[in-house]
Amino acid sequence: MCKTTILAHNENITIAQCNNCKVLNIWRAGVLMNFSFEQFNAFCTATKKLCFDDYLESRSDGKEVVILSTPFPDISLVFTREEWQEFFIKIDEALYMKRIYELVYY
Ligand SMILES: [Zn+2]
Repeated sequence: MCKTTILAHNENITIAQCNNCKVLNIWRAGVLMNFSFEQFNAFCTATKKLCFDDYLESRSDGKEVVILSTPFPDISLVFTREEWQEFFIKIDEALYMKRIYELVYY
């Protein structure tokens, strides 16, 4: 794997970008997704306006979750309400940092 710059990070999520090919990596709960910037943008735009309450499903233990499809046909992400909020906070942070790095380094 190439060298990456971390754009946003907490104990559950890391969003990083490859310094060479600019692929965006989202690490979450043991799953690593690689996005081109176009894919990442499309994914963010499509998912950001979704309202958690409109897509509720119940997990087998009764907990309310939202299942989000990704640009990868066989992979879906499962979020609790807290994880959902956290995820979009981190995505915003990553987009912000990405702009900063572009201003500084390119
Ligand atoms: Zn790379």
